[in-house]
Amino acid sequence: MRKFYVVGYLAAVLIVPVGLHAQQAGQLPVLKQEAAAEVDKLQALTQQMVDEIFSFSELGFQEYETSRYVTGILEKNAFHVEHGIAGVPTAWVATYGSEKPVIVFITDIDCIPRASQKPGVAYHDPIVEGAPGHGEGHNSGMAVNVTAALVLKRLMDEHHIAGTIKIIPGVAEELLGTKAFYVRAGVFRDVDIVLGAHVESEFSTSYGTGNGEWSGLVSVQYFFHGKAAHAASAPWEGRSALDAVELMDAGWDFRREHLRPAQRSHRVIINGGDQPNVVPSEAAVWYYFRELDYPHIKDLYELGNTMAESAAKMTATTVDHKLVGSAWPPYLNKVIAETQQKNIDAVGMPKWSEADQTLAKALQKELGAKVEGLKEKIEPLSEPAKKPTGGGSDDIGDISWNVPMVYLMYPANIPNLPGHSWANGVAMATPIAHKGSTAGAKVQAMTALDFLLQPQLVQQAWEYFRNVQTKDVHYETFLSPDDRPAVEMNKEKMEKFAPQLKKYYYDPERFKTYLEQLGIPYPTARTKP
Ligand SMILES: [Zn+2]
Repeated sequence: MRKFYVVGYLAAVLIVPVGLHAQQAGQLPVLKQEAAAEVDKLQALTQQMVDEIFSFSELGFQEYETSRYVTGILEKNAFHVEHGIAGVPTAWVATYGSEKPVIVFITDIDCIPRASQKPGVAYHDPIVEGAPGHGEGHNSGMAVNVTAALVLKRLMDEHHIAGTIKIIPGVAEELLGTKAFYVRAGVFRDVDIVLGAHVESEFSTSYGTGNGEWSGLVSVQYFFHGKAAHAASAPWEGRSALDAVELMDAGWDFRREHLRPAQRSHRVIINGGDQPNVVPSEAAVWYYFRELDYPHIKDLYELGNTMAESAAKMTATTVDHKLVGSAWPPYLNKVIAETQQKNIDAVGMPKWSEADQTLAKALQKELGAKVEGLKEKIEPLSEPAKKPTGGGSDDIGDISWNVPMVYLMYPANIPNLPGHSWANGVAMATPIAHKGSTAGAKVQAMTALDFLLQPQLVQQAWEYFRNVQTKDVHYETFLSPDDRPAVEMNKEKMEKFAPQLKKYYYDPERFKTYLEQLGIPYPTARTKP
C-alpha cells in the first residue's frame, strides 16, 4: 500500500507542474503585458537606481556603496543575498525561489577612471575634476535587472510560477577581472539560462559571435626588478628596471608587424621609477593581449612572457608577472536571442522628447561626431559576422561558454560617442538613461517569463549550446590555479576620490532626480544645434 501511495504521489508531483507550465504558457502574452505594466509602475525606482549608482562612481573592485545599495533593495524584497562570492568582496548573488529553471540576470557595475561628468551637460564639465565617472554607462544595468527581477518575483508569487531568479553583478568588468573567477568558483553550476544586459544606444540582441567585433584577452602586469644607484655618480652600479620596460615595449612593437591582423595589444606603464637621479630598481608595465580565440590569445600571452624575460636578460634585471584579468570572446545563444528579439520588437524604442534629442545632437556636435540624435528604430536580429574582426572584450565571454546566454543591448545612451570617456556619461543620469532602462527591464522580464513557462525552450537553448556552440570548441580557463582576483586594484584611487564624490551622492528623499539635485537645466548645451 505504502509503495503505491509513494508512486501515486510522485506521479502527481511530476504531472502537476507540467500541466501548470502548459496552462501558464497559454497565458504568456497576458503575463508579458502584466510584466510590462508592472515595470512601468516601478519607473520612479528605476530612475532612482540609475541616478544613485551614477553618483557613486565606483571603480572596479571598489564598488562597495553600489553593492550595499543594490543588495539592500533586493534584501528588502525577500531576495536572499550571499556576499563576497569567488573571493571578491564586492561580488554577490541575490536569489529568489528554489526551483528549476534557474535564470540569472547579470550586468556590470563599475565605472571608468577620470570620466567624472555632470549629467545633461553637452560638453566636458566634471562633477569632481579627475575623479572616476560612469563613462561607460554601467550605472544603468542594475536598474534594468533589479526592476525586472522585482516584477518577476511579484508575478511568480501571484501566479504560482515555478523557478529561481538570481542577480549577479559584473564587478570590475573594465578590468575583465571577475567572471572567469565566478565560473571557476562554480557560481553558474546549476544555472539554466543567463540574461546579460549592457547599455547601448540601440535596442538589440545577437547570437554566435555577433557582429564579429569581440575579442578575448588576457590582461597581464609585468614587474621588473633592478638595482638602485646614483644615476650620475655611479650608474654602472645600477640596473634599470625601466630600461627593461622600454625594451620590452620596443620589442613588442617590432614584433607587432609579424602578428596576425586580428591581434590587438596595448599597454600602459604603471611604474616608471621615482626620479631621474635614481636608477629605477622597480618598474612595471601592463598589457592587454587580444585575439579571436583561446589558442591565439594563449600564444600572445606566451609571447608577452618571452618578450619580458628577454628584456630582463638584456638589462640584467629580473621579471615576474601577474594575470589581472581574462576573457573568452563571447558566443551567444541563438534560441534565447530569437526569443528575446520578439520581446524587443514588442516593447519598441522609448519615446524620446525634444529635450533628449537636443542633448544628443549637441553632444554629437561638440565631439565632431555625426549629428543624428538618438536612434528611433529597432535593429533586426542579424546573422553573425562571417569573418570576425575582433574589437573590445567583455568577461561575460567566460560565462557564455559555460551556460546558454544572451546579451541584451538596451537603448540608454547617445550614438556615435568615443566610449570609455566623460562623453559617454553625459546621458547616463538623464531621461535618456531612465527611459532606456525601463525599456530594457521590460525585455528582461518578458524573456525570463518565456523560459520560466516553456521548459522545452530551455531544452532547445541547451541543444544549441551543446550541439552547435561547443561541438568543437571546449572551454578552458586562462587562469592558473594560483591566480586570484586582483581585489586591491583601484583602492588608492577610490580612497582619494570617494570623500569628494560623497558630497554629490544622490539623495532621492530630497530630490526627484539627480539633475534636480545638481541644479542642471535639461538639456544644457553650448549652442542650439
Ligand atoms: Zn561595459
